[in-house]
Amino acid sequence: MEASMEELGTYQQQVFLWLASLDRCWTAERRARHGLTHDAVCILCHQETEFIDHLLAGCVFARVTWHKILAWCRLVTPPMDSVTTFFAWWALAADTSPSGLRKGLNSIITLTAWAIWKHRNAVIFDGLHPSTDDLVLSIQDDARLWAKAGAKGLAATIPVT
Ligand SMILES: [Zn+2]
Repeated sequence: MEASMEELGTYQQQVFLWLASLDRCWTAERRARHGLTHDAVCILCHQETEFIDHLLAGCVFARVTWHKILAWCRLVTPPMDSVTTFFAWWALAADTSPSGLRKGLNSIITLTAWAIWKHRNAVIFDGLHPSTDDLVLSIQDDARLWAKAGAKGLAATIPVT
């Protein structure tokens, strides 16, 4: 069986998503569970406990990011609040999207989830100011680069300009 780079994503992205699916990312909530920190509040919204489904789907910061990216790609997906977890939403979005768009959808979801995680890390460890505008621009840049590198599903999904 042939698996393209597009389907696999980068190694780091795949490892991150695999850990996220197992709830093994070091979110504030998981750190607190292991006695590592007492500050379990999400750094991006300062409103709720940071656990992986909050960070990737429930957080108002993440929702604005997803909305902008999915609108940019003109992808129609089920609302995130119709399901309980990020991965349930992803599965539903893939199931309900036309087969011709599925590859591009999976790529853009991989890219965006990874970018939210990296942005969160930059805010925590590098003192970056959270910005959905900056994050969306960097996801768009990455998507264009990835499309140029041969990700056909993605190239068919994102705008040419
Ligand atoms: Zn949040």
